[in-house]
Amino acid sequence: MAERLRWGLIGGGEGSQIGEPHRIAARLDGLYDFVAGALDVDAERGRAFARALGVPSDRAYGDWREMLEAERARPDPVEVVTVATPNVTHYEIARAFLEAGMHVVCEKPMTMTEAEAESLVAVAEPADRRLVVNFGYSGYPMVREARARIARGDAGHVRLVVAEFAHGHHADAAEAENPRLRWRYDPAQTGVSSALADAGIHALHMVGFVTGQRIAALSAQFDSLVPGRKLEDNATVSLRYAGGTLARLWASAIAIGQMHGLNIRVFGEKAGLAWHQERPNQLLWTPVGGATTIVERGSPELSPEAAEAGRFAMGHPEGLPVAFANLYRDLHTAIRETDGARRDAAAARLPLGPQGAEMVAAVHAAAGSAAAGGTWMEMG
Ligand code: NAD
Repeated sequence: MAERLRWGLIGGGEGSQIGEPHRIAARLDGLYDFVAGALDVDAERGRAFARALGVPSDRAYGDWREMLEAERARPDPVEVVTVATPNVTHYEIARAFLEAGMHVVCEKPMTMTEAEAESLVAVAEPADRRLVVNFGYSGYPMVREARARIARGDAGHVRLVVAEFAHGHHADAAEAENPRLRWRYDPAQTGVSSALADAGIHALHMVGFVTGQRIAALSAQFDSLVPGRKLEDNATVSLRYAGGTLARLWASAIAIGQMHGLNIRVFGEKAGLAWHQERPNQLLWTPVGGATTIVERGSPELSPEAAEAGRFAMGHPEGLPVAFANLYRDLHTAIRETDGARRDAAAARLPLGPQGAEMVAAVHAAAGSAAAGGTWMEMG
């Protein structure tokens, strides 16, 4: 049995959106012990919830600074910390724990500014700490299958990718009263973008993940379609990638009828691929001039990286917590594995600090482009 890592969680309190998927993912493979947490902006609620989840009372903290100080003083401190708080707090918390020598899983967007993103990478890399950004959809087996097929050249040169993360869950102005929604449209708490930085960023990461390419340039249009919003609730972005691929991306929070709305279609010279998050176990594959086939998770034809990313037999539904768990398992491998090839393969699949920084830079470039009427912005 692999040696377990001591894990702590910041944010993700009772009723939060993303806390529970992290907790399930971290325990799925028995690789982490949940030993400490500062789960809520309200200290007492956070302590009570952590205790209810089985965290020892003396490590159920009311505040992340209190947790940092107390953990540092222990002979057995947390080794990995997940930051699942609102965006504005990511940088300060992630930086403090990295500096204390812990590995960090940070929610997206990694930071509010490009300078903060670069500074987190600059802290993590020389210290040999892993900084993972939770682009958790890259953990889905069939997304990994798409990446493997493209990397093998089965689809030929990728000419075009059309990606979207467009949902309809913020389509009503009345929802502005909901505190879990309000921060997402407040520039002071969210930064320069809402729909793109909140949802579209996953689709953006996925384009880079499956094609293996970095963004070369982009042009964007942002609109606030619910009156009164200071940040966009609908964004369209055109992109050029360093390997010559073009992409179109749509991010939206007003697309009523789209339940989750993360979809990607890849058009290569030799084949087309499509994957839809609401049908995560299937990859659609169409060779040029041929019929579409459905490639099922769990089927014998899968690449090794897709095969090992699944847990259940073909036909049994498998979803988001398993996808997130693949990131936690890869992180464990990237930290603990002694076989260098296996360790490097896991790290290469993980969305690490540099990809998090690239996505932050892309969001800022898109906001700048949109403000300038769609000017093309080159990216480094
Ligand atoms: P939420 O508003 O539902 O929950 C935020 C939680 O953080 C609450 O429990 C709150 O009490 C707690 N919190 C706030 N400030 C804190 C602090 N200083 N210390 C400790 N706890 C604090 O938000 P959410 O939807 O869960 O989003 C949280 C983060 O996760 C955001 O950065 C968001 O972008 C990201 N997110 C990622 C995904 C994904 O698929 N990767 C999905 C949803 C949200």
